[in-house]
Amino acid sequence: MITGGCLCGALRYRAGGEPLLQGLCHCRNCQRMSGAGHVGFVCFAEDAVTVEGETRSYASTGGSGATATRYSCPTCHSVVFGRAEVMPGRINLYAGSLDDTSQFKPQVAIFTRSRPPWDDSSRGLVCFDTVPSSQ
Ligand SMILES: [Zn+2]
Ligand SMILES: [Zn+2]
Repeated sequence: MITGGCLCGALRYRAGGEPLLQGLCHCRNCQRMSGAGHVGFVCFAEDAVTVEGETRSYASTGGSGATATRYSCPTCHSVVFGRAEVMPGRINLYAGSLDDTSQFKPQVAIFTRSRPPWDDSSRGLVCFDTVPSSQ
C-alpha cells in the first residue's frame, strides 16, 4: 500500500498493489511544474488508486504532442498526480508526495533529452530520449 498527499493534507491518495512503472520524467513541462530538474512518478492502474479531497486540474500538451493533465490541491497548490493521454487508464502519483518516499524505486528516466546538466538523478537508470516504445 502506498499513501501520500499534498502539503496541507487536504488532498490524499492511497494505492494498492504493485506499481506498473516507476521513474523520473525530465520533460520541460514537469520541470516548469515542479521547479526541479525532473518529477518522480509512480504509475498505477486507475482502479488501484483512491483519491480523497478536491483537486484542480491543468491540462497541457506534452512532449509527445498529446495532452497531459496534472492535479493539484486548491488550498496549498501542491501538484500531486497526473494523467497522460498516451497512458489511458493509468495514473502517475508524483514521488515527492509519498508519505514514505523510500517506497519510490525509479527504474527508468524519460525525456532525458531535456535533462539539465545539473540534475544527475537518473544516473544508473534506463534512460530514454523521449518515452519507451518509439512514441
Ligand atoms: Zn493541500
Ligand atoms: Zn514530464
